[in-house]
Amino acid sequence: MVRLNVFRWAPGEAERIRAYEVEAVADTTVLDALVAVQREQDPTLALRYACRVGMCGSCAMVVNGRERWACRTRLASLGPGPVSVRPLYHFPLLRDLVVDMTPFVERHAAVGAALAPAAQAEPYVVIPSASAERAEIDDAIECIGCGMCLSACTMVAHDRRFPGPAALNRAFTLQRDRRDAAHGARWAMLLGDDALPRCHGQGNCTDVCPMGLSPTRSIIRLRQMAVRRMVGLAAPQAGRGQ
Ligand code: SF4
Repeated sequence: MVRLNVFRWAPGEAERIRAYEVEAVADTTVLDALVAVQREQDPTLALRYACRVGMCGSCAMVVNGRERWACRTRLASLGPGPVSVRPLYHFPLLRDLVVDMTPFVERHAAVGAALAPAAQAEPYVVIPSASAERAEIDDAIECIGCGMCLSACTMVAHDRRFPGPAALNRAFTLQRDRRDAAHGARWAMLLGDDALPRCHGQGNCTDVCPMGLSPTRSIIRLRQMAVRRMVGLAAPQAGRGQ
């Protein structure tokens, strides 16, 4: 048996921790345990999940003090003792383990996170997978929008206008995309006081990203591009070394 200490809250109620005991075998995940609680002990427990196989990121939550996807976190990997489960930080709470992801979308919108095709842009998907241009952004394009990096980022808590790791990571991929026509407008935002200068490089985002992305590296590359742009040099060469 494993004990889960689960954060509970609903509008009009007081925040509290509720303990549940669940049966676990070697492969039981945190999501398995929470679903068992919901089905067999407490149907009022609210949580969000969809794919259950580590693809969608919707089951992101804070387990034993660290952002993790519940469906890929085995109870056995957490060591002995009770397992604490709480919702992501820095998002409005809807109920129990479910947060409102609106700030995630808003922060992406703030950096112009959609491709703005240039008038003579080449057709979609023309960048060869083996090219240096693709290699430069390869580590940054697999974001699944789970929000774990925002939860782990201390600057997101401090500055509500800071776009946060995921949006800056996305902005990096677009600033390196020759088909995009919004580079100038995006630079105006990125170089403002609340964007690139705000990151302190703690790397919490990179530590918790379940996809192995490094928003920290994307931010560093954006800064390198910004400096070269300011002194009239071309963008840095594509590479993975920094
Ligand atoms: S960068 Fe990583 S942690 Fe952040 S939203 Fe994307 S997949 Fe999740």
